[in-house]
Amino acid sequence: APSYTHNFNHAGFKGKVEIPTGLFINNEWSTSKDSNAKTIDVVNPSTGESITAIPEGLPADVEVAIDAAHKAFNTTWGTNCPGFERGKYLIKIAELMERDLDILASIEALDNGKTYAVAKSFDVTESAAVFRYYGGWADKIHGKVIEQSAQKLAYTRHEPVGVCGQIIPWNFPLYMFSWKIAPALATGCCVVIKPSELTPLTALYMTKLFKEAGVPAGVVNVIVGYGPTVGNALATNPRVDKVAFTGSTPVGRKVMEAASKSNLKKVTLELGGKGANIIFDDADLNEAVKYAAQGIFFNHGQTCCAGSRLFVQRGIYDKFAEKFAHVAAQIKVGDPFDANTYQGPQVSQTQYDRIMNYVECGKQEGAKVLTGGNRHGKQGYFIEPTVFGDVTNNMKIVREEIFGPVIVMSAFDTEDEVIASANDTNYGLASGIFTSDLSRAHRVASHLKAGTVWVNCYNELHPQIPFGGFKESGIGRELGEYALENYMEVKAVQINLGKKCA
Ligand code: NAD
Repeated sequence: APSYTHNFNHAGFKGKVEIPTGLFINNEWSTSKDSNAKTIDVVNPSTGESITAIPEGLPADVEVAIDAAHKAFNTTWGTNCPGFERGKYLIKIAELMERDLDILASIEALDNGKTYAVAKSFDVTESAAVFRYYGGWADKIHGKVIEQSAQKLAYTRHEPVGVCGQIIPWNFPLYMFSWKIAPALATGCCVVIKPSELTPLTALYMTKLFKEAGVPAGVVNVIVGYGPTVGNALATNPRVDKVAFTGSTPVGRKVMEAASKSNLKKVTLELGGKGANIIFDDADLNEAVKYAAQGIFFNHGQTCCAGSRLFVQRGIYDKFAEKFAHVAAQIKVGDPFDANTYQGPQVSQTQYDRIMNYVECGKQEGAKVLTGGNRHGKQGYFIEPTVFGDVTNNMKIVREEIFGPVIVMSAFDTEDEVIASANDTNYGLASGIFTSDLSRAHRVASHLKAGTVWVNCYNELHPQIPFGGFKESGIGRELGEYALENYMEVKAVQINLGKKCA
């Protein structure tokens, strides 16, 4: 079976790690059955150099994986495997991830460019927490008894949807993997998942852990390939019962269209955002500055829920802007494996170019650069944390998702005005409010059209708390009890207790 061995040698972890790089189907690693398959170059975003080339999957492989998933669903998994047993597998996976915390964090930092410290404390730790959380749910999923009349007994069964296609992005490779797989397995579904072709390595390492945990063959199949081939095959295939997608809004539309044109498979989408972060003049200024900076610069701005539009009440605007630009300018950009680094490279040349185009566009539109606006260093895809002030709502940098370390800031006067501006977007994923007025916090929270409202904090995520978008930011909710609904069908069983046919 194809594999790649990387020799890590940084302060957090030293040692050789073997990563299986083949397609993982039916608990075995292989290369594509299609002779047209090539390899995918996996690039280190800190240097722009290749880490390794891995086998590409193609639609023919998706078919084989779907066969394996259906077989598992009808034999060893689904309703054939009690929830208690499914939960044990999920908890075992969480334990193995914690055992291999340093390894997974090292791979994630290498492949994605996020810092090792964040990969360890956030991505891997929280991904394990998601597996454990859904492990706890697996034996607590059940229907209801409905008392309709003395002559009729009705009850509902919460049955797994079946075989799920899952397509995930590159910004949180392992974390998105856990959001997709854990609730699906908890309900009894089997999955064929396509990691991003840009960041496949942690998902591939995880295949070893699924095998070690003893997860039956075919329950989880991992196929690395490109969107228009493997991703599209999952969205269009009539034997896929549900597709879950995280990524850009244009591709989300394609996935939904493909679902509607094929078998009307269930669709959940987690798409882009342009989060409004609102700072009222009664907020704790220093806390608001720090949270707002973390709200945009966490993960180098490659976060769908990023607080990328900052609205600051006029009386404190100048003071806030000065402090905020200062904090942004202090952010240490550089090697993800250096413990002092906060911001590593953007994930790819394409993303780097896209972000720098927006930065140029902002300058041309007349927004004021308060700090940043340039490339950092000479190699890799590093960008200075960038703050634009005095923006107006019609500017491209205000309307479109930049997905990089770039924030736009403007002043507002009244609560009504800022609610209107915050909601003046096609997106509706997340937003923030900073105030010490409790009534105002609840009032504004109720008026913001977004799936998450953070009050006096930002970018807080937790396995128990649902996450997802209003408007064009998506369909459905992930995490928490809500995510289970994505992977279940409700069946009503009605039993006649003696009613004669009329
Ligand atoms: P993308 O939507 O192209 O990629 C996301 C996933 O979809 C990848 O696995 C990709 O291979 C797959 N995909 C691509 N085309 C497909 C198709 N036709 N059918 C099925 N699957 C397909 O995102 P991107 O190009 O990597 O990034 C572009 C922008 O998307 C970013 O700048 C950002 O605005 C947004 N984005 C959002 C998120 C998020 O978390 N919501 C994540 C990544 C990117």
